[in-house]
Amino acid sequence: MLFPRPDRGRGVIILPMNYHIWTIGCQMNVADSQRLASALEQMGLSAVDQPEAADIIILNTCVVRQSAEDRAVGRLSSLKPLKQHNPELIINLMGCMVGVRSHDELERRFPYVDVFSPPSDLRPLMSYLFHQRGFQPEWDFEDPGDHPALLLPERERGSSVSAYIPIVLGCSHACAYCIIPYRRGPEISRPAADILEEVRSLAAQGIREVTLLGQIVDRYGLDLPGELSLSGLLREVHAVEGIERIRFLTSHPNWMSDELLDTVAALPKVCEHFEVPVQAGSNEVLEGMRRGYTSEEYRALIGRIRQRIPAASIANDIIVGFPGETDDQFHETEALIRDLRLDVVHLARYSPRPGTLSERKMEDNVPAAVKMQRFRILENIQARIAAEINADYLDRSVEVLIEERQRGRWKGRTRTNKLVFVESEHNLNGKLINAGIIHTSPWSMRGNLESVEGIPVEEPAS
Ligand code: SAH
Repeated sequence: MLFPRPDRGRGVIILPMNYHIWTIGCQMNVADSQRLASALEQMGLSAVDQPEAADIIILNTCVVRQSAEDRAVGRLSSLKPLKQHNPELIINLMGCMVGVRSHDELERRFPYVDVFSPPSDLRPLMSYLFHQRGFQPEWDFEDPGDHPALLLPERERGSSVSAYIPIVLGCSHACAYCIIPYRRGPEISRPAADILEEVRSLAAQGIREVTLLGQIVDRYGLDLPGELSLSGLLREVHAVEGIERIRFLTSHPNWMSDELLDTVAALPKVCEHFEVPVQAGSNEVLEGMRRGYTSEEYRALIGRIRQRIPAASIANDIIVGFPGETDDQFHETEALIRDLRLDVVHLARYSPRPGTLSERKMEDNVPAAVKMQRFRILENIQARIAAEINADYLDRSVEVLIEERQRGRWKGRTRTNKLVFVESEHNLNGKLINAGIIHTSPWSMRGNLESVEGIPVEEPAS
């Protein structure tokens, strides 16, 4: 295929091109991929499901654990034959595998990659498309302050009901184990005016739920003199017509202020759901991790949340097998999980990440089998707790925002972030419904449709 350069003057014809994005990792990566898709579509490209049918393949990668990195490398390697077969194919490696620093080594390792993009950065691909393929974005893509409008990608338009909005990019906390600050760069809050403009635009495109994202989302605005705090931003987002639910994640225990909790309690659109990782129950391990709080302080925080917002659901992250973690120290994590009875625990086995403090200075000395055993122990405890918590929903009527249809059932979430499946002949896509819960498990629930947007529904007799 021939692609005329823009400097050949008027009458430039750009051949239609297809893109395919493969995303792995956190919500921030999902948001980054959506932004990129939005930009590409505004340049006239269309999404395709099969990488084989694409002119541009973007791999948006995660390296938070070795397993995620291995998946990304596996996928990247599988693209080599496609590139050999079609040298015009553009391969764009994006995200935390690339990072904000030099990627010379990646260039040597993967010479068939055309473009390397740091996380959240659309510029390298835009620049490549401009200089090599004659595309002319309508915004100044070299200027980090200028960005295209966030228009939902075509396949999501009219069907997507929730969106992720990054509000704090990067992280400056430097937990001993974590590679994110190295790959996403230092903490930078986005101006509230930009965020609000985006929320309004998304609401106009049919989005009803927004999730505000940051590595330590509660630190929003602290790096911008005179900017709103997260509480202030929540109040402004709350005022946007059309937005019915607001979430934010991830919180760090040291930055979840009482003011923030009071704001969540006071604003009805802000869902009573918190993602606040503890990572370990032992104070020695927490200190090794450089988390900056004690297990007692974390317990007190959970108490404060529940005192203000009794219905709150709380999710937690735990790493087992951090360097030097003894059986006794692990038992403290086990006790914490048993005592606090949180709704969700995301479990991870420690994985040394290049360049982090723990990788450089601490021996990864908990054997893999022991990490696995500890993982399984917590998994079993948490499955029991979640089963009990969710069983309390039985026979209750809950509000569910329906996100999509999946294997013949409608799928949505409660305000407390529980997955609910509903069978119905009605088109419930994007609807706020009420469901009477008839079955629960540790991971999801099933409900009968009772009402749609507040109007009672009679299901046709089957
Ligand atoms: N800033 C957010 C997200 C961090 S990454 C936070 O503090 O939660 C998401 C989770 O991955 C972390 O909470 C942690 O539990 C896990 N994680 C991060 N680095 C890890 C590592 N080196 N090994 C295992 N799990 C890790």
